[in-house]
Amino acid sequence: MVAARPDRGRGAAARIAALLLCLLAAAPAGAADGGLVEPRLTVVKGGPAAPRVALTFDACDGAADQRIIGTLVEHRIPATFFVTARWIARNRATLAALASHPDLFAIENHGARHLPAIDREVQVYGLAAAGSPAAVLAEVEGGARAIAAATGRSPTWFRGAAALYTTDSLAIVRAAGMKVAGYSLGADGGGVLGADETARRLAAARDGDVVLAHVNHPARSAGAGVAAGILALRDQGFRFVGLEDAIGSVAPARLPRPRVRPPPDGPGPAM
Ligand SMILES: [Zn+2]
Repeated sequence: MVAARPDRGRGAAARIAALLLCLLAAAPAGAADGGLVEPRLTVVKGGPAAPRVALTFDACDGAADQRIIGTLVEHRIPATFFVTARWIARNRATLAALASHPDLFAIENHGARHLPAIDREVQVYGLAAAGSPAAVLAEVEGGARAIAAATGRSPTWFRGAAALYTTDSLAIVRAAGMKVAGYSLGADGGGVLGADETARRLAAARDGDVVLAHVNHPARSAGAGVAAGILALRDQGFRFVGLEDAIGSVAPARLPRPRVRPPPDGPGPAM
């Protein structure tokens, strides 16, 4: 397990305040082009004889999917859970159960209120973004505080709702002492795919993939597919690892575009 970071105290708060002032002062008029970025994350490959994959699960809101958690515990498969303060408040027993397996599970930060960590007023995947630098910081710090209060351990990774950012909001997250977790394989389409499709996607993971799935929709069929896909990977010889040797990069977001205005003389592009 990664130890709590000793440097996230008043010194860090002062650095963040300075950074926010810096960002506000440096933003030229008209610079807000709405461009979003999307971090990607993989882990070091294990090679054909011992391929590796990191399982990561978002717990956005709602309940806990025991089909997935039970499979992980039964087969002693490591995973990283990104939880919000909101989810913690509704699933305290499950969080305690996860935290009782520190050899298997890491509890990381998915934010306070599940607001995308974007410092502009946009909507992504139907979610209204935090909307300002201060609100992004509140999302990050609120999530971290809730995890520390519930588990006694401060998170070191952050993945915001919708996993989209601006370059400025990424800097805010990092200045708050968090590493930003992307992913390389979305397994469940945000939790809305069917069981078979989800299992198929998971079973098609490649060496080094960081898998994203959801663990907060126990009534949907995707979770059954996640559990089946995990076991299919195990049967293929994959080893499951944490994010200790992850490799990150950042690219322009492919979808969705934050806002498209139709031209004055005709309809806009189909979205
Ligand atoms: Zn989420």
